[in-house]
Amino acid sequence: MSLEKKKIILVNKALVKLYGIPPRPEFPPDPVDMLIGTILSQNTNDRNSYKAFLKLKEKYKSWDEVARQPITKIESYIRIAGLGKQKSSSIKNFLSSILNKYGQISLEHIKLMSDKQILSELTGYSGVGIKTAMCVLLFSLRRNVCPVDTHVHRTVNRIGIVNTKTPDKTSAILNLNMPEGIAHQFHTNLIRMGREICKPAAPNCPICPLLKICGYPNKNLSLKKTYKINNFMLLDNIG
Ligand code: SF4
Repeated sequence: MSLEKKKIILVNKALVKLYGIPPRPEFPPDPVDMLIGTILSQNTNDRNSYKAFLKLKEKYKSWDEVARQPITKIESYIRIAGLGKQKSSSIKNFLSSILNKYGQISLEHIKLMSDKQILSELTGYSGVGIKTAMCVLLFSLRRNVCPVDTHVHRTVNRIGIVNTKTPDKTSAILNLNMPEGIAHQFHTNLIRMGREICKPAAPNCPICPLLKICGYPNKNLSLKKTYKINNFMLLDNIG
């Protein structure tokens, strides 16, 4: 077993002990919903991206209708999620491309494809990166992959599971070494820990369950021993 895999198992056990196994909805969300939800979630918090997602769903009966709207109209409804121009253009581009290619807005066909084929297809759409495609794999198709966002990238580098400069490199190493069946709990609990304890500027190391195994040289041992719960996970609530 690789060293990375051993570390992932160790970290996962400690986080499950702290947070438990995160719940999943009974039915996985539709892949198109998930892809759009993930685009909306970039560089903002889950609550605001969820509001933007619900707004689009409330204003339009279907994604086909959204595809026919001018970018500025889409932008006006998703403003709360930030980066409105960029996100509305990615959404419009994705929906129009899939409509042109398949004659309908559906990603049902990817359910029969391998992880590699799905990544290749989804990242072929402008504005869809590896993390977004991985979220579709994990949340909609329940494949055993760990999408790497800013929290996952920061924490696994601090802990010492990987030593990389970019989320995409982190993603490649993590997913090469992901033990079967734990990707969702590892991903979700790590994000929660990154928000609540291992924050970017001031990690709250004294209360961290990984303190003894973490290799971060700049641990912050002087912070107060409490934290604010931040456990709303957008991508487990899409649909
Ligand atoms: S010990 Fe500190 S730096 Fe290491 S994972 Fe925990 S909070 Fe982050």
